[in-house]
Amino acid sequence: MQYISTRGETEPVGFREALFTGLAPDGGLFMPESIPRLDAEIFTGERSFAELAAMMIHPFIGEEIEQADLLDIAESAFSFPVPLVPLGDGVQILELFHGPTLAFKDFAARFMALAMQHFLEQDGEHLTILVATSGDTGGAVADAFHMLDGISVVVLYPAGRVSAIQRAQLTTLGGNVTVLEVDGSFDDCQRMVKQVFRDDELRASRRLSSANSINVGRLLPQSVYYAWAWKQAGGDQPVVFSVPCGNFGNLTAGILAARMGLPVERFIAATNANDVFPTFLRGEGFHPRASEHTLSNAMDVGSPSNLDRMRTLFGDDVGAMREHISSWSFTDDETAQAIQRTYSEHGYLVDPHTAVGLLGLERHLDSTDGEAGIVLSTAHPAKFSDILVEIIDEAIPLPQSLTHSMGLEKRFHEMPADSSALKHFLLKS
Ligand SMILES: *Cc1c(COP(=O)(O)O)cnc(C)c1O
Repeated sequence: MQYISTRGETEPVGFREALFTGLAPDGGLFMPESIPRLDAEIFTGERSFAELAAMMIHPFIGEEIEQADLLDIAESAFSFPVPLVPLGDGVQILELFHGPTLAFKDFAARFMALAMQHFLEQDGEHLTILVATSGDTGGAVADAFHMLDGISVVVLYPAGRVSAIQRAQLTTLGGNVTVLEVDGSFDDCQRMVKQVFRDDELRASRRLSSANSINVGRLLPQSVYYAWAWKQAGGDQPVVFSVPCGNFGNLTAGILAARMGLPVERFIAATNANDVFPTFLRGEGFHPRASEHTLSNAMDVGSPSNLDRMRTLFGDDVGAMREHISSWSFTDDETAQAIQRTYSEHGYLVDPHTAVGLLGLERHLDSTDGEAGIVLSTAHPAKFSDILVEIIDEAIPLPQSLTHSMGLEKRFHEMPADSSALKHFLLKS
C-alpha cells in the first residue's frame, strides 16, 4: 500500500516511511492511496479483537510487516477488554478506556509504538518522538513508548489546561520520556511541533517523528473497534456511532472502517464549544480559531487537523459529508447535566468527553425516528474525578494505577509558546 499526502505534493511512500515521517513533507497528512474493501467475513467471523485488528490492518501495510508479526503486535497492543455496555433506551456505550492510561488513545499509541519498534529493531537507529497533547494523547503515547529501546519521547502540553491526573500520568514516567509544560494553549503546542518538524537544521541533526493523531499509524488501529462494536451489537444491522470529537482522528478512523465495508448508518460528530466542524458541515466554511477551554479538555481543538483527511475522503464535498455525518456542539452546562442525568437514571458515570458523545446520540435520536446507537466512550470517569465530584456530589474512587502515579515526583521543564525555544531545547538535548 502506498500513502499519499492530502496536499498532493509529496511522492507516494510505503507504510513504514509514512509511519516515521508523520507529517508529509508538503505539510499535508498521509492517507492510504486507496481503501481496500474487505471481505464481509472479516467483520462477521468469530475472532478475538487482536485477530480482527490484524486482518483489518494487514491490507494497509501489505508485506512491510509479516502477518504473524502483525498479529503479535496487535496482541501486545490490545491486551485489554473492549466491552459494549447497554445503557438502556437503545443506547450502548463502547468502553474504550480499559488500556493502561484509561483513555481510548491507548489503542492508537500502543499500536504505533510497537509498529515503530518492529521497524527500528531492524536498523538500530535512534528516534525522537515529538508529541503535542491537550491531555490524553501525551499520556497514552508516553506510556506506549516508555522503556522502549532506541526511542526518546518529548511531550508538550499547555500549562494549566490538563487535569491533575493527566499531568501526573505524564510527568512521572521519567526514563526516556521528557515533558515540557508550555505557557500557551494546545494549539500553540501543536503549532510548535509542526514548525520544528519543518526545520531543516533540526531534521538534519536527529530523526524526528510525530505521534499526534496526524500519524497514519494511529489512524488504522482506531478503525478496528468500530467493527468490534458492530459485531457485539448483533452484527446484522447498520449502526449509528456517536463520536466525541476534538482533532477528528477517531471519527476519520470510523469513516475508514465504513469504507472498508463495515455497515454504518450514520456518524454523529459531537463537539464541545469548539464548534469549527458543525459550522463547516452546515456549509458555513472552515474557520479555524483559538481553542476554547471546556470540561472535555481533550476535545479543546480550534483547528482540527484531521479535517484535511475527511475532506479528502469526501472529495471536498460538504454535501456528501452531510449524507453520512451529523454534527452538533454542546455547552459545558449541557455536558454537566448529561453526566448527572445518566448517573441518576442509570447509575452509570460517564466522563465529560463521553457525555458530549451521549448528547450527540440523544440529539440524533430525538431528531430522527432512530431508536438505537453506540456512543464511543473515550475516557475512564476516574480520570476526570475532580470535575465529576462537583457534578454528582459524590466521591469517586481512583483506580490503583492512578493513585500510584499521583504520589510520584513530577518532572517537567517550563517553556514559552515559541517554536524557536523548542528547537533550541531539542538541539541541546
Ligand atoms: C483525544 C480525545 C478525544 C478526541 O479524539 P479525536 O480523535 O482527537 O477527535 C475525545 N475524548 C478523549 C478522552 C480524548 O482523549
